[in-house]
Amino acid sequence: MRILLVGPPGAGKGTQAAVLAGKLGVPHISTGDIFRTNVAEGTPLGVQAKSYMDKGEYVPDDVTNAMVRDRLAQPDTAAGFILDGYPRTVAQVHELDDMLSAGAGRLDIVVELSADTDELVERLAKRAADQGRSDDTPEVIRRRLEIYAETTAPLIDLYSGRGLVVAVDGLGAVDDVTARLLAVLTK
Ligand code: AMP
Repeated sequence: MRILLVGPPGAGKGTQAAVLAGKLGVPHISTGDIFRTNVAEGTPLGVQAKSYMDKGEYVPDDVTNAMVRDRLAQPDTAAGFILDGYPRTVAQVHELDDMLSAGAGRLDIVVELSADTDELVERLAKRAADQGRSDDTPEVIRRRLEIYAETTAPLIDLYSGRGLVVAVDGLGAVDDVTARLLAVLTK
């Protein structure tokens, strides 16, 4: 199964994608996680990505696309994957189409995980306290929500036009949201 999870920062994509990947036996591919690993290891990619991430801006498409192309070429993606945080721009959608047509085929489903803004801000503030992510400061959170609305939310219409989108309410306890997602994914 080739699954894409979309939703604003704080909707719970990362948490849910990790749980679902375990249950469905497919890899969880998070561009944010790959960038953070590179930042932690001080690789050239990490150094480049960090300057954007710390401001809440998107890392340039060419850098991000090349990284995902490499990851999707790994053999563990043959049976499917859960993409979390990519694509985030229309150009990335076209790039992903190209990657998939060359290999695994196409996406099976796009799940839109939603939550209202107050809930998002609250969750991100809590994550800032728990994890100390450098992009979870109030100012950067505001910018990340803004850029999501401007640049990434339009992707939902694009994928809706392809008949791929199912919306799932991301509000509530982690287990409840997982159950909702599994109900949709195993239908
Ligand atoms: P995330 O963990 O998905 O919220 O991603 C954290 C940060 O990594 C984002 O705010 C961006 O700076 C960067 N990032 C992750 N995925 C992408 C992407 N698909 N395109 C550009 N930047 C990305």
